[in-house]
This record gives sequence, C-alpha cells and structure tokens, in this order.
Amino acid sequence: MTIGETSAARTGQVHLIAAAELETTVRAIFAAAGCAEEEATLIARELVGANLAGHDSHGVVRVPLYVDWLGRGYVRAGQSAQVVTDGGAFLVVDGNKGFGQTIATQTVALGVERARANGTCIVAMRNSGHIGRVGAYAETALAAGLVSIHFVNVAGSPLVAPFGATERRFSTAPFAVGLPLPDRPLVLDFATSLVAEGKVQVASYGGRPLPPDALISPDGEMSTDPRVLYGDYGPADLRTPGGGEGAIRAFGDHKGSGLALMCELLAGALTANGCAGPLEGPREGIANGMLSIYLSPAHFGTQDEFERIAREYLDWVLAARPIDPAEPVLAPGDPEAANREARLAGGVPLPVNTWAAIVRTAEALGVPTGP
Ligand code: NAD
Repeated sequence: MTIGETSAARTGQVHLIAAAELETTVRAIFAAAGCAEEEATLIARELVGANLAGHDSHGVVRVPLYVDWLGRGYVRAGQSAQVVTDGGAFLVVDGNKGFGQTIATQTVALGVERARANGTCIVAMRNSGHIGRVGAYAETALAAGLVSIHFVNVAGSPLVAPFGATERRFSTAPFAVGLPLPDRPLVLDFATSLVAEGKVQVASYGGRPLPPDALISPDGEMSTDPRVLYGDYGPADLRTPGGGEGAIRAFGDHKGSGLALMCELLAGALTANGCAGPLEGPREGIANGMLSIYLSPAHFGTQDEFERIAREYLDWVLAARPIDPAEPVLAPGDPEAANREARLAGGVPLPVNTWAAIVRTAEALGVPTGP
C-alpha cells in the first residue's frame, strides 16, 4: 500500500487528507532525508499539529523548505539541546542548529522539570532550527500545570518593517502565553507581524488571501501580493523571502512594533541567539531564539484563588455582548481547539500546490505518496 492511498481525496483546489496519513507521509519524508525515527516522528507530529490547530502557515507547507535546509546544512539532524549555563533558577541552552522540533521540545522539558521542582524557571534557548508553532510549547507547559510566557525571534530573517518604515528590520518574532485553567486552558500565540510569514506562503500557494494591509511595498503602498515578499515564483516553487523588495507590516502600529523589538532583544540578544539583522552577506539558514518563563501556581500558594478568580473573570469577559450575536467573544486558544476537533474528524485541507510541493519532495527522496 502506498502512503496516502486510503482516504486522501481531492476536492476542488483542496487536497483533503486524514491527519494520521499526512503524519505518516511527513515522517517517511524526514526519515528518508536522514532523520532518526524519533526525530522524524517529532517533526511530523508538530507540523501536522500546526495544521490541526488551523495554523497551516506552520504546518506541512514547511516540509519542502525543511528538507532543502537539511540538504544545505542550514539545519542538522540528530542534535540535542545542550545546557551551556545552569544557574539553578535559569538555564541557557544551545541548539547547535538542530531541528527546532527536537531542540525546543527538549528545552521546554528542561524548563518544565525545573519549574515543577522549584516553582519557576527561566530558559534562554539559542541556535535552534525553526521551532514551528510556539503555542505547542505553551501547551506542553499547560499539561504540566504551568503558566508559561515565550518571547521568540528568528536570527537571520528580517521580514517585518517597524512602525512607520518600509524596510525590513524585525523577524516575525512570535509571542506566546499559556495559562492552565481547569477545563479552559488559554493559549495566546501570535507573530508580531500583521501576518506570519507562513501565511504569506500559504497565500502564494493559492490558500487564504492576505488582509489588505498585510504587506508594504518599497514605495510605501499597502499590498496583498506575496511577490512583494518573494519576488516572482512558479506555482510549486520554493518561496524565498529574500526575493522581494517589500516587507510584512508589524501588527498593532507602534505597540506591536514595540513588542516585536522586545522579542528580538529578549530572544535574540539576551539569549545570544542573534537578532534578525543586520546581515553581513548571505546567512546560512535561520535560527530561532526563545526566552521562556515558567511559573507554577501551585508553588505560589495561590492555585485555588488563581483558578477561581481567573475563571470568574474569563467568564465575565466572554459574556461581553458581541457586535454580531452569531459571533460570541472567544478566548485565546478557542479557534485552535475548534479547528483541531474539526480537522481530526474531517481531515486536513491542503491547497493543491502545497500538496504538489510535498509530493515532489517525497518523490525526490523515493517516498511513495499514493495516486
Ligand atoms: P493568529 O493571527 O492566527 O493569532 C493567533 C492567536 O490569536 C491565538 O492565540 C488564537 O487563539 C487567537 N485568536 C484568533 N482568533 C481569535 C478570536 N476571534 N478571538 C480571540 N482570540 C483569537 O496567529 P499568527 O500571528 O498568524 O501566528 C501563527 C503561528 O505562527 C503561531 O503559532 C506562531 O507561534 C507561529 N510563528 C512561529 C514563528 C517561528 O519562528 N517559529 C514565527 C512567527 C510565527
């Protein structure tokens, strides 16, 4: 039996595939590309997990690029997170350019373990490959009963114009917070760019179009055209952000631009990961840096009050009269939970060009993908 044979179905411009099958295909691709089974499994689980959460920008659309980076040595298989400073209450960890799914998973496990023992831990991670959807790591901390706060940057990837500018200075520098409320965990997780770069990729492959103010051209005009970022491309070509002359806009005007700057400085400078730029000549790949803070409400002695007060307040917030009665107020994490339920039941819809690019990558590695 070839992978993808059983329930993958084409519907219009969308290739609908069961999550488990997609995961099997992606795992096989990374195993064939040189990753050990455990690492290939982790990469596949995290990428498909992003699709399940509805963040297609950080899902399997990345497969061709990750394989390309592996081939070029921009990311390395088989690396482990190395503790370079152990301050007890804090750790500094180096990823040695390993796959982000491996490095961040190990790094988060260290922070969680310390915070569960001592009540809190701060972990500075540097030199990791792309870690994907940051919310996934907040969810790991949630499962251990911990609050977590994550500032992330991408060294070597200036894509975002600061407030009032047309030139790229920030990475898409995501920020995430997880709050472990019983029955209603909250996960706030977003890029500080108006859209994540992967959403520009998704739009460029024929997926969801960009909002009208997402990109800025070199002459200061708002744009929705992914070519502003990538330059010209064919339907199934890899997208390279260096190809275009414009930028993604920071979200939230001066406030979002300020948060992006702080993500760069905390995740890029304090960790010694390096910031988005300046770039001296072409850089070999990108590196995620992450400053994470883990807090244990149980150790604070306020667990009961935290849960009671937070829940009461959250219910009051969510009960605010909606502008449109058909669209009640949501909590951070609600859209992801709803997507997960729907996509686990009904399959993961991929733009056909995304699937075509994955199939090309699989074929080049001799991995069967079905008819
Ligand atoms: P987004 O704009 O979709 O925002 C997502 C956040 O907003 C979530 O917390 C979600 O629960 C919340 N949300 C969405 N709609 C809501 C509503 N109606 N009411 C209340 N809350 C709502 O996310 P994004 O900026 O496109 O980021 C996508 C992903 O990209 C994130 O997972 C991020 O971690 C990831 N990312 C990773 C990197 C990296 O270098 N690894 C870089 C950038 C972004």
